[in-house]
Amino acid sequence: MAASKPQSKDDQVTEYIAVGKFSKNVVAACDAVAALFPAQVVRAASSAYIEAQNSYWNASQRQKEPACFFQPTSAEQVSAAIVEVVRADCAFAIKGGGHSSNPDGSSIQDGFQFDLSKLNHIEISETDRTLRVGPGVHWGSLLKILESRGLSAVGGRDAGVGVPGFGIDNLISFDIVLANGDLLTVDRDSHPDLNKTLHGGGAFNFGIVTSLTLKLHSYDGMWGGMNVVDEANFDAVWDAYDKYTSDLIEENKAHLIMDFFQLDGRMVVAKFMGFLAPQPNPAIFQGLCSIPKVHDTLRLDQYSGLAKEMQEVTNCRGERNTYWTLAMRYDIRLLKDCYELWARMTKAYEDRFRFAFDVNHITPAMRNQAAGRGTGNV
Ligand SMILES: Cc1cc2nc3c(=O)[nH]c(=O)nc-3n(C[C@H](O)[C@H](O)[C@H](O)COP(=O)(O)OP(=O)(O)OC[C@H]3O[C@@H](n4cnc5c(N)ncnc54)[C@H](O)[C@@H]3O)c2cc1C
Repeated sequence: MAASKPQSKDDQVTEYIAVGKFSKNVVAACDAVAALFPAQVVRAASSAYIEAQNSYWNASQRQKEPACFFQPTSAEQVSAAIVEVVRADCAFAIKGGGHSSNPDGSSIQDGFQFDLSKLNHIEISETDRTLRVGPGVHWGSLLKILESRGLSAVGGRDAGVGVPGFGIDNLISFDIVLANGDLLTVDRDSHPDLNKTLHGGGAFNFGIVTSLTLKLHSYDGMWGGMNVVDEANFDAVWDAYDKYTSDLIEENKAHLIMDFFQLDGRMVVAKFMGFLAPQPNPAIFQGLCSIPKVHDTLRLDQYSGLAKEMQEVTNCRGERNTYWTLAMRYDIRLLKDCYELWARMTKAYEDRFRFAFDVNHITPAMRNQAAGRGTGNV
């Protein structure tokens, strides 16, 4: 885009309307909010605007061009802004960590963009074992701070994911701004229905969350990392995985993702393992670890170190990504068939796309543990 001489605000408004770039409604919303909080509104063609676009994880979100980004620093600013946006009858989107893989998940073309990256407070109460955190915080930086105090929260396996994404069973309460500008603190006693919808239901449809209060847990280190196995040994991997899933019923510290993908023209599987204690080579992973491997990073480390590794190894930030999920009752034969089908179907296109087939296992015990705490929906 060619550089142009600086314009007054009125000139800009006239130009946007004249070229039909943005609707009157969105220009009115951006202007009204900019009149209240000039330093918080970022307009097109500035370096701050491009920076805000590039802070999305997925390319399809980065390519969206809102009329403005609004980057509030307090819940009160969010409240005043939503009143103006509603008054202008303007379409808007909300971005927390910006990691949604869905096109338009947290971005909008030609609309008003709430960008909550500056709501990034982190307040730890060691006495209550709770954490108040802003929706602009990413797990990677948060985990490091918690670890330094011997604490942790249930959160992202990937350091780049934003805190709002994990709106489920470990959340005690939310500070939220409703469409009429009201500021509420929501928990299961004060607003049981709203509390329920906010636990994994997508806060997007119910208000703008300005702070989340999470439960904290004691923490003293982890074991984990990954090893990578060649296709020649996949039979052994499936056998070991089947044994792992049955051992997992009695084990609440272990976690595993298997990630199948093409590497230098051959299929491999990266087994990302995590164990929530500083214990080398936990018994539950013995079968999976005894298979010959071509790469191995398993070690004692911190949660933040493992989350960073996951972010770096699976890095496709800024590319065009799409995710599809299938949830099913565990059946190793069905799982293997799904894998075979996926491998056959994707082979013909491997010169054009990078494919991955990820396997996660959730046990009833995991679900029940969350239910026992009384903060979740199950
Ligand atoms: C490669 C990859 C790895 C992932 N790894 C993990 C993982 O390890 N653990 C995990 O839990 N999840 C993981 N996820 C899923 C992730 O949690 C979701 O994509 C999540 O929605 C991202 O949250 P965010 O705040 O970063 O994203 P955003 O894109 O900012 O927001 C996601 C959704 O929440 C809404 N929203 C965000 N903030 C607010 C707010 N303050 N108020 C109201 N609505 C809001 C947005 O409008 C949007 O609909 C992963 C996703 C990908 C693509």
